[in-house]
Amino acid sequence: MKNNSSSTKRIEDMSKADLLEEVERLNFFIKATMEHAYEWNLDKDELFISEKLAYFMGCNEQFIKLNTMQESIHPDHIESHRDNIVAHFKGRTNRVTMEFQLQDRENKYRWVAENGISLRDDTGRTIRYVGTIRDITGQKDAEDQMLESSARLLAITESASTPITLKDNEGRYIMVNDIFCKNRGVTRAKTIGKTVHDLYTSDVAATIAVQDKATVESGRAMQFEINPIESDGQLHTLISERFPIFSANGKLTGVGGISIDITERKKQDAALRASEREMRLLANIDSLTGAKNRRSFFATGNQELARSKRYKRPLSILMMDIDRFKIVNDDFGHAAGDAVLKNLVNACREMLREQDILGRLGGEEFGIILPEISINTAYSIAERLRLQLMKLETVSEDKVIRFTVSIGLGKCEKDTPTLEDALSQADRALYKAKQEGRNRVCQEF
Ligand code: GH3
Ligand code: MG
Ligand code: MG
Repeated sequence: MKNNSSSTKRIEDMSKADLLEEVERLNFFIKATMEHAYEWNLDKDELFISEKLAYFMGCNEQFIKLNTMQESIHPDHIESHRDNIVAHFKGRTNRVTMEFQLQDRENKYRWVAENGISLRDDTGRTIRYVGTIRDITGQKDAEDQMLESSARLLAITESASTPITLKDNEGRYIMVNDIFCKNRGVTRAKTIGKTVHDLYTSDVAATIAVQDKATVESGRAMQFEINPIESDGQLHTLISERFPIFSANGKLTGVGGISIDITERKKQDAALRASEREMRLLANIDSLTGAKNRRSFFATGNQELARSKRYKRPLSILMMDIDRFKIVNDDFGHAAGDAVLKNLVNACREMLREQDILGRLGGEEFGIILPEISINTAYSIAERLRLQLMKLETVSEDKVIRFTVSIGLGKCEKDTPTLEDALSQADRALYKAKQEGRNRVCQEF
């Protein structure tokens, strides 16, 4: 020490009374301080320990053997404790600073931090050493707990299959987990300290920034949707739960985020909805011709009838049956007959309006509902249909199939109770058409 000789000199110059007063003052000083301290007189192999350290170690005396001290140090730390002190004595360090475990009065090891300096004589030889010892067990425990809880947290976040992030108050990432980096196609090192603007396209980044701000302002967890393009180059849909993070003393320190990728689920939902739509459609149409099936024809027909009655609007009904269809099947085969049925429906569709309802009621029997059409107009429409279908050609295996139809007319008026009533009226007219020689339109009222 630089002032070794000057302090020795000062003591030499002191009177005995002054010296006694100095000793008393120092004793009082040591007693008053909360530190555990010891002084080692290297000439004597003996330590003088402060009252607090004596109490800590469970010693009845303040003068103890060097051995007693060494025996109280944890066996694992004896060597490093000695090395530290020796290094200092050899002038390699200005002061001793080390942590080790020391046995207390109950023979329990406690973590302590020692700070010490040595005193040298004029020849530079170390003659005394003073060390202060502080119990840091509580601090160590807290550190261990902290390390353990961060290790636990790390294990959770790293094994999570969903992206997790923490951002500070300036929106800089302070923690991102593995899956987040993978999804974004970034490294952790290049993400920490960056903001959303460095990681996402400007529109997505702006959205996230607004959402973070809303979370901070609300002071509670909130859910958002974001649609970023991830590292696979695909547009993803994420439900992101954002929550404010507060320090132990309640100060806002940032925003956390946990996201769930619902891209696949959304796709599946859409596919399911599409197939439901398709099934509903299929349940309503005749699979051979694409016309409405009997059930659907009656359902929509009844709605139309109710509407026409409510608004006192005209509505007409046609029953159409292919003439001698059995012969078509017999001459050309069943498949050719099917082709004729399809061809007929397509041809009718072209002639009818969007709002007209065409249904296949039986094998080669069709019903047509004509909303807003009076019976006279319906007759002309039926005639036009009959004449057009007469000209319709269906080609099957190089043979051309032609056919005719008979049509019966029915009308719905305010006193027509049901669609079935109107249809049986049309059916009677159809029967009449067949009776009168087929290929004609008849009405029965
Ligand atoms: P009419 O002029 O009196 O109506 O004579 P028709 O031969 O058409 O009448 P009928 O009811 O005796 O015969 C109808 C035929 O329609 C019988 C059946 O083989 C045929 N048919 C019914 N459904 C289908 C089908 O889905 N495909 C085919 N190819 N033929 C069918
Ligand atoms: Mg027929
Ligand atoms: Mg028939």
